[in-house]
Amino acid sequence: MLNGLMMQTPLMISTLIEHAARHHGDTEIVSQRVEGDLHRSNYRELACRARKLAGALRDLGVRESDRVATLAWNGYRHMELYYAVSGSGAVLHTLNPRLHPDQIVWIANHAEDQALFFDATFLPLVETVAARLKTVRSWVLMTDRGHMPAKTSIANLLCYEELVAPQADACEWPMFDENAAATLCYTSGTTGDPKGVLYSHRSTLLHSYAVSLPDAACLSAHDVALPVVPMFHANAWGIVYAAPLVGAKLVLPGPRLDGQSLYELFEREQVTHASGVPTVWQGLLAHVRAHGLRFSSLRRTLIGGAAIPSSMLRAFEVDYGVDVSHGWGMTEMSPVGTMGALKRKHAADSPEQRLAVKAKQGRVLPGVDLKVVDGDGRELPWDGKSAGELYARGPWVARDYFKNQRSGVLRDGWFPTGDVATIDADGYMLITDRSKDLIKSGGEWSSSIEIEDIAMSHPAVAMAACIGVRHPKWDERPLLVVVQKPDARLTRAEILAYFAPKVAKWQVPEDVVFVDAIPLGPTGKMLKSKLRQQFRDYRWPAG
Ligand code: ADP
Repeated sequence: MLNGLMMQTPLMISTLIEHAARHHGDTEIVSQRVEGDLHRSNYRELACRARKLAGALRDLGVRESDRVATLAWNGYRHMELYYAVSGSGAVLHTLNPRLHPDQIVWIANHAEDQALFFDATFLPLVETVAARLKTVRSWVLMTDRGHMPAKTSIANLLCYEELVAPQADACEWPMFDENAAATLCYTSGTTGDPKGVLYSHRSTLLHSYAVSLPDAACLSAHDVALPVVPMFHANAWGIVYAAPLVGAKLVLPGPRLDGQSLYELFEREQVTHASGVPTVWQGLLAHVRAHGLRFSSLRRTLIGGAAIPSSMLRAFEVDYGVDVSHGWGMTEMSPVGTMGALKRKHAADSPEQRLAVKAKQGRVLPGVDLKVVDGDGRELPWDGKSAGELYARGPWVARDYFKNQRSGVLRDGWFPTGDVATIDADGYMLITDRSKDLIKSGGEWSSSIEIEDIAMSHPAVAMAACIGVRHPKWDERPLLVVVQKPDARLTRAEILAYFAPKVAKWQVPEDVVFVDAIPLGPTGKMLKSKLRQQFRDYRWPAG
């Protein structure tokens, strides 16, 4: 084979931030701080402080491939860690503070984290778990001297700003193999122990390029991007890399994720581009509706992590004129696999037809390959009807888990996602369920997502989850768990009647229970495993 004669420059995360500093140096980074105020910085300053932080890490004894953990909101100091840790050859491990403390301990010990950087919000949490974190040597509170606690049980608690300040801005980022590990993120472990996904510099850069494309996140130097999706989960869907890559202004919401705070930040900073899971947007839309507000700058929102209810899609697109891009991904996919964008041919379609395409999870990002397979692993046709398990492969798809004891994550070179999907002739993928959420009733599989979507299109329903519960005759039957909107007075009969004309008789939920809240998982998605546990001994009404 004749080799090409092009340079073999490794794809390095540090190049993203140096590019942003040089070409978009004065482009702003605005952060809502835990300290309470709004902090303004820019890419030039971010790169400078990341270089200084890299010096501080070296002084703390952090070496190549060491894991440096964070427990932090979306903010500029977290960004600095993203670039300083990976850029200097160590591995940034974003811990999810919403996990149970026992799980955090398990994960940090499994990762063998050497240092832990955390926001003041999480000091009480860190104090609770510190004694059990066996490998952590350095504890750093991400604040300045004025905000350090007077008293803490953590011995030798360091102050972030004091570590950064004395460092010289002289660091040259090292160049090394682009396949070196850069970041580590654990899946939330809804099934079994959490699993560590270890991203490389190469996978991160390729994912960032693909995410920025026009038919994906469509980010550019014109944009003001606000990722609500946390930096402690799957790299905020890559927005924290894509924004510096393209020179978009970045707005980081810190701990204030309620509808009102988000709306105010959107308007004040003229956000054009937002990203988050459906439950977050529910809070935002409720606030906007209740106060008769409009979005003056928001152009596009990326919604993923869970299926977008069609009522939400319609609200953004039709009521507020905001373009929705529905995406699918998972921690193991860096995390984005597909995103929804219409094709030229859809211009001729009716608004309803266009919404139907947008409701699907979208087309695969170029670079990744998808297929759906039947129970025997045979590929199913792309006809929009044949549902099977979704498999993925590509340079930003995991091939194994960190320190995995069991072999054989891949099947014939493909990653089995555990999701059930169809793909149509145009390449649009539709997730019909997670395989473990499917409901098997009388030999027929029911999609819990479809039932939830119908329930949530009812004007009085705020949130709905559908789970399979054991049934003496039908194996399992769908139970619908509903949270009503404030002041709504729905009855079981009304909801069931609402379903009747919309689905086959056996898909109509067997029963409805009303609850005050549906448990949410650490990434803001409905926690169906918990609901299943809660309703394990549920008795169906007689008759
Ligand atoms: P976990 O939810 O277990 O913490 P991830 O955040 O990696 O882990 O979630 C990945 C899963 O989320 C996917 O396998 C899929 O089941 C679900 N998911 C992600 N995006 C969507 C979407 N747009 N529609 C439906 N399900 C989605």
